Amino acid sequence: MNPLIRPLIAGNWKMNGLRASQAEFELMLAGTAELADQADLLVCPPATLIAAFAERANASTALAIGGQDCHPDPAGAHTGDISAEMLADAGARAVIVGHSERRADHGESDGLVRQKAEAAWRAGLAAIVCIGETRQQRDLGHAVAVCRDQLKGSLPDGARADNLVVAYEPVWAIGTGLTPTPGDIQQIHELIREVLAMRFGVEGTSMRILYGGSVKPANARELLAIPNVNGALIGGASLKAADFLAIAADCP
Ligand code: PGA
Repeated sequence: MNPLIRPLIAGNWKMNGLRASQAEFELMLAGTAELADQADLLVCPPATLIAAFAERANASTALAIGGQDCHPDPAGAHTGDISAEMLADAGARAVIVGHSERRADHGESDGLVRQKAEAAWRAGLAAIVCIGETRQQRDLGHAVAVCRDQLKGSLPDGARADNLVVAYEPVWAIGTGLTPTPGDIQQIHELIREVLAMRFGVEGTSMRILYGGSVKPANARELLAIPNVNGALIGGASLKAADFLAIAADCP
């Protein structure tokens, strides 16, 4: 890990969490103070919980709240969608865009993901842009090309280190317990770093690149030590305060 880049440990709760989850979230908050030297922490709960969590989290600086998706437009006739401005208004500081579940379940293209990242910036949020290959694409030897193309299409111009995070999440590693080899992760993270530096110059050299896909306390130390891995995007293991905090504590 580049020691100059402060790691980010982000939890993606996906479609999990009810008001009763506030108790688990309080456990998380209680454990964050001692991690403040180690990493930035972000929890992305379902939209229904953002305001309540943010009200508690924004009182401290140890942990921020994010959304899991946003619509490109600030407002309008888009039933069921949420704008970046609404997330910001509810207290969010960041939003995940282009998660593979959104790309697969909602047919989101790179172009749409790019618009969503731009919407995040318009609302003053950091955008966490997700990319990653499928199992079949990796088996065919296309992982590098797929990730390169997704980056090209999904990242807006003018990104800065404080408003763009890239998350490499191989689709086949999400929720499966499988992870790529450290060498394979290093290869894709190097590619992402190269693309960011070419496109955004010096800002690109200090943007955070997260690894996501079956990160858990048992493998976090090894994954977080891989060069150009500047933190993690965590699904399942972010639902339990003890696991989430244990992963954050493993940041080098
Ligand atoms: P997982 O999910 O940690 O449950 O594999 C990661 C993600 O989808 O962000």
